[in-house]
Amino acid sequence: MNRPSPLDNVRIVLSHTSHAGNIGGTARAMKTMGLSALYLVNPKSFPDNEADVRASNARDILEQACIVTSLEEALHESVLAVAMTARTRDLSHQTLDARQAARELLVHAAQSPVALVFGRESSGLTTTEISKCQLTVHIPANPAYSSLNLAAAVQIMAYELRMAFTETTPLPSRQSAYQLASFDEIELFYRHLEQAMIASEFLDPNQPKRLMQRIRRMFARTQLEKEEVNILRGILNALQK
Ligand code: SAH
Repeated sequence: MNRPSPLDNVRIVLSHTSHAGNIGGTARAMKTMGLSALYLVNPKSFPDNEADVRASNARDILEQACIVTSLEEALHESVLAVAMTARTRDLSHQTLDARQAARELLVHAAQSPVALVFGRESSGLTTTEISKCQLTVHIPANPAYSSLNLAAAVQIMAYELRMAFTETTPLPSRQSAYQLASFDEIELFYRHLEQAMIASEFLDPNQPKRLMQRIRRMFARTQLEKEEVNILRGILNALQK
């Protein structure tokens, strides 16, 4: 019997990777731990011989990779996206370590797609990219030098996901009676809220400051359910009348 594994629902998303070798290293890191869904957002060079060489016997992962032009496409229909960051940032979301994050991701991957988003080698993820995710995850490392090689960071997360998957102890029981809202539903809600705030003159579009970023951070903490997004949008509609 071929039961689908929650690991099939885990997407590894690499944003704007500059070194094709890291894409190959990522494919190998994934396959050794039983992951298969690779998304590449605007890679500098792909396909690339260097990626094939570093992937070794994991070239099938490269062949099946989804190449997309925006993070939104890579997060389509996912219910939980984590931003992998080498350093902690100002105004960041709740930050988990690799082990906590793997457990949290697997709870949701049992039913729906989830994503781990990795940044550029030179500068990591942008603030905008991080704000599209619900959690930030940091692999605890030497505080004096905490920036891992991209494929090495993927390897650690893939290993933690595998360990969380094979753990004999049951996963934290989260009743699945309530379905989490998808990325797309939440983005539509943010857009609706922003329009309503502009129309009511609460938000000056010429001087937005960091209001939307703060709002995203607040809702990211709550892990909105489908029903809740519907309620919030219903309230906005009613107030707009
Ligand atoms: N120079 C960049 C780091 C780039 S490393 C910076 O300062 O942000 C490339 C990517 O690997 C990062 O964007 C992140 O997604 C991942 N990564 C590297 N080290 C990590 C760590 N300690 N914890 C979590 N992710 C890490």
